[in-house]
Amino acid sequence: MTICVVGHSNPDTDSVTAAIAFAALLNAQGQTAKACMQIAADKLNPESTVVLKRFGLAAPETMMDAAGQKVALVDFSDIGQAPANITSAEVVAIVDHHKIGDITTNQPILFRAEPVGCTGTVLNKMFKDAGVAIPKDVAGGMLSAILSDTVNFKSPTCTPDDKAAVAELKKTAGVDDTDALFMEMLRAKSSIDGYAMKDLVFRDYKDFDMNGKKMGIGQLELAALDQVAGIRADLLKALEDVKKDGRHSVLFMLTDVVKEGTELIVLSDEPALIETAFGGKIENGCMWIPGMMSRKKQTVPPLQKACGC
Ligand code: MG
Ligand code: MG
Ligand code: MG
Repeated sequence: MTICVVGHSNPDTDSVTAAIAFAALLNAQGQTAKACMQIAADKLNPESTVVLKRFGLAAPETMMDAAGQKVALVDFSDIGQAPANITSAEVVAIVDHHKIGDITTNQPILFRAEPVGCTGTVLNKMFKDAGVAIPKDVAGGMLSAILSDTVNFKSPTCTPDDKAAVAELKKTAGVDDTDALFMEMLRAKSSIDGYAMKDLVFRDYKDFDMNGKKMGIGQLELAALDQVAGIRADLLKALEDVKKDGRHSVLFMLTDVVKEGTELIVLSDEPALIETAFGGKIENGCMWIPGMMSRKKQTVPPLQKACGC
């Protein structure tokens, strides 16, 4: 049976390109694998759309239900971020760079997780370990994913391994200027014109269960905060709808990539808990948190701590 390689729901560039790259590696090693993603190709986020086009990569197949399938997971290991019926699928491998999630298996599997900035960095090592050359287009995708996940090396999640991987992958991909590639991605990622509020809210969004509290955290990376000045009221209305749908809190990170900080929009049943988590004061429904770039490293852990996880 073909192994479906799939990243997390609401896929970002890493989830999309890691699925492509790991499928390529598995195929090069004599297995049969295909890249999948939990979204229709025409709904893919604008950054990933630009990356696929720029490097001539085909969009992975859509896979929303894993029942009865053989799957390999990239860029996540949480049931909450998996395709439907993941518990009745056979998980054969996991490659990730997040905290270990709640997916379990009956058999021993290939499980490779490293505390680096991107799944692409882990996969770059796996290609080398396997002695498999990375195809040029695949290298371009992996390179883009590392620049995106590490916010062009500015995120605290970035490690020397990520920088080393970029140095190697840019050669393979034939990219001279990675700053220019990053800005091209940022322009696409932060474009808001013509998008429905719901699309902006869910562009990079994850739900977490924190001690029985359902927490939604979205992020929009911007070149400047005033990019969203004209849509704030509509954005808030859309976030209120998400909150009403059974969530304890919805946090929305407006991250200024140039100023290196985040304006956190907070909708919560317990605002005091959010203030405790981030050591600030909510004013007009927002808090500015200097230096906050990463949901994984700077938003989720303090919130989990405040929730007693
Ligand atoms: Mg991801
Ligand atoms: Mg990632
Ligand atoms: Mg990301």
